[in-house]
Amino acid sequence: MRLAGQVAVVTGSSSGIGRAIALRLAKDGADICVNYHAHAGPGEAVKDEIQQMGRRAIAVGADVGKTDEARKLIAETVAHLGRVDILVNNAGIEFREPFLEVTEEHYDAVMAVNLKGAFFCAQAAAQQMIRQGGGGRIINVSSVHEDLPLPRYSPYAASKGGMRMMMRTICLELAPYKITVNDVAPGAIATPINVQVTSNPTLRQQLLSEIPLNRIGQPEEVAELVAYLASPEASYVTGSTYVIDGGLMRHTLSL
Ligand code: NAD
Repeated sequence: MRLAGQVAVVTGSSSGIGRAIALRLAKDGADICVNYHAHAGPGEAVKDEIQQMGRRAIAVGADVGKTDEARKLIAETVAHLGRVDILVNNAGIEFREPFLEVTEEHYDAVMAVNLKGAFFCAQAAAQQMIRQGGGGRIINVSSVHEDLPLPRYSPYAASKGGMRMMMRTICLELAPYKITVNDVAPGAIATPINVQVTSNPTLRQQLLSEIPLNRIGQPEEVAELVAYLASPEASYVTGSTYVIDGGLMRHTLSL
């Protein structure tokens, strides 16, 4: 197992893409810190599933948008699992509303979780990776909207664009320590975050018409890409975004 003896922290891993990533990295042999936000139950359930696979796992409640809690998440991982080799910044939120109606409260909430949380989790994880030596992996789950504009989700698009420049910048500062930093940019994936769109027949059809492969992706497909970036095989990969979107980014007019 290529991640045997390694420890991974996956933020927001009680559901959706984060849950699939936590299970996938455990399958490769990693011990896992499952992070949940509001409700302990689903986080504990993922932790139990991982322990049943024979791995060590803990479930830690932390709002990554609060810097002291982001730091505590990494500290608790070290206290219970001994080290941090892989950080997956997956936690994210979004609100669907026109730019002209976005409140400061919603703006701050999206930025806190999606960007500030990823920033300070990465900082605390990198400090630990440097202390323990031997390099590490930081993988951000951004979005195709780190590049592609998304009307009615302006704070979300701004946060993911910020995540891209964070990744491109800190990869340079962390390269001397053999810590790689990359983004995975999913298109439309079937999870609770976008159920408002995917469960509405009109919006769903509109969405499918934008996707050349004509289907919505599964969290497990994203997890496979993350598992590669976390693996020893990806040791020369840093500073880039890996898009997984069924061709959405290449969609154009058919005349
Ligand atoms: P999801 O709602 O299932 O997952 C989001 C997770 O973030 C949840 O587990 C939630 O508890 C957690 N979270 C929210 N606020 C938090 C906080 N303050 N602290 C810690 N955790 C918090 O949806 P998902 O689709 O699995 O989203 C995972 C990531 O994938 C997000 O960053 C999202 O932007 C990104 N993404 C999703 C899609 C998609 O189509 N589903 C596409 C592109 C990018």
